[in-house]
Amino acid sequence: VDETVREDMMKLKDTFPEIADRFRLINRIGEGTFSTVYKAEDLQFYGNYRKEWEIFGQAQDREAEEWGKPPSKRRKMNGAPDDQHRPRYVALKKIYVTSSPIRIQNELELLHDLRGCKSVCPLITAFRYQDQVVAVLPYFPHTDFRIQYRTFMVADMRHYLWSLLTALKSVHSHEIIHRDIKPTNFLYNPDLKEGVLVDFGLAERQGSEYSSPCLCSHQSYVRRGRILSSYFSKNPPTNGISSGYPKADSRPSRRANRAGTRGFRAPEVLLKCTSQTTKIDMWSVGVILLTLLGRRFPFFNSADDIDAMIEMASIFGTRRMKAAAAMHGQIFETNLPTIGEKGYSWEKLVKWSSCVEDLTESESQATRLLSGLMELDPSKRLSAEEALEHEFFTEPIL
Ligand code: ADP
Ligand code: MG
Repeated sequence: VDETVREDMMKLKDTFPEIADRFRLINRIGEGTFSTVYKAEDLQFYGNYRKEWEIFGQAQDREAEEWGKPPSKRRKMNGAPDDQHRPRYVALKKIYVTSSPIRIQNELELLHDLRGCKSVCPLITAFRYQDQVVAVLPYFPHTDFRIQYRTFMVADMRHYLWSLLTALKSVHSHEIIHRDIKPTNFLYNPDLKEGVLVDFGLAERQGSEYSSPCLCSHQSYVRRGRILSSYFSKNPPTNGISSGYPKADSRPSRRANRAGTRGFRAPEVLLKCTSQTTKIDMWSVGVILLTLLGRRFPFFNSADDIDAMIEMASIFGTRRMKAAAAMHGQIFETNLPTIGEKGYSWEKLVKWSSCVEDLTESESQATRLLSGLMELDPSKRLSAEEALEHEFFTEPIL
């Protein structure tokens, strides 16, 4: 263990004597913008049985590690204590004090709401000392996506996506948007062919946005031909008017939740839609599938939102980008000569990216699923439930 990590672990134990009493800190396993995660052993795991268990030695020890696995995959252990849901290894997530108290409370609250959901990492308990908070989660053994994606066969992609979509189906049925779907937040175990969704630090309840609803939520009105005059007073009109930017624009600028990770943000997030739904997570699932099929990570590599929109436009073409922007009351314009009007098909893109001439039948199925996920119009994009019904899963060609 690294010296600075050792010091950090000492500090954590000093701040939280309850943690020092109950857990043996093993190592640091993750460090992000808002937290540090440590692997630890729960010393109360075996309770009275601890001594007996220890003599079973190494082999049994490995089996014990399986207690972090989903119940369906656990092998039965004879004479195991009753509290089956207590794992031996845990992940201690120390949430930084820079993260606002409301944010921390939000993360813990949502995890509490989602307890019992399949493929969502459950919250065991949490500790607080003044402004510091530590969440305790079962440790889930997983592999690093940056290493595993290259070796993925189509069958592996199917297991990965099935598990991720199952998690999202439960999360979305609670009307919760995760907002940060990406490989580092989905811990996948190739041996189990299952993963767990973690990191609800940016998650929110659908419809919790405070500003006025986006034009896209008025689609039915638009179709009936009504004029949304009150709407247009605050948002740029979509047709016919000069796209020049007024110098003294007294209208309040549009504010929308743009939280997430670059490269995984849905078009409506980039377009500052104020009525974002659980469909934004489905776009991110599409980006993961594109990474797997195209064998490139990261697939999108934009520095900012404008860059990201350009990347999208090079795929979809300007015509569809303009239509997507208009849906949210925005204007999309570009004079970049490399961006065509028409764009490309997903099949062509997957072939180019993975350097293959032809797709196998199962790769074609996966590519059709991809186009259902990376759909610019959120109302037409597949939901997690619909995606699980896709031919890629229901009629798999093995
Ligand atoms: P952050 O908000 O800092 O991104 P995460 O909850 O995503 O925090 O955790 C960061 C990293 O810690 C993850 O990408 C993963 O590698 C590791 N991690 C988090 N929870 C667990 C867990 N339950 N089991 C194993 N590793 C975990
Ligand atoms: Mg994370």
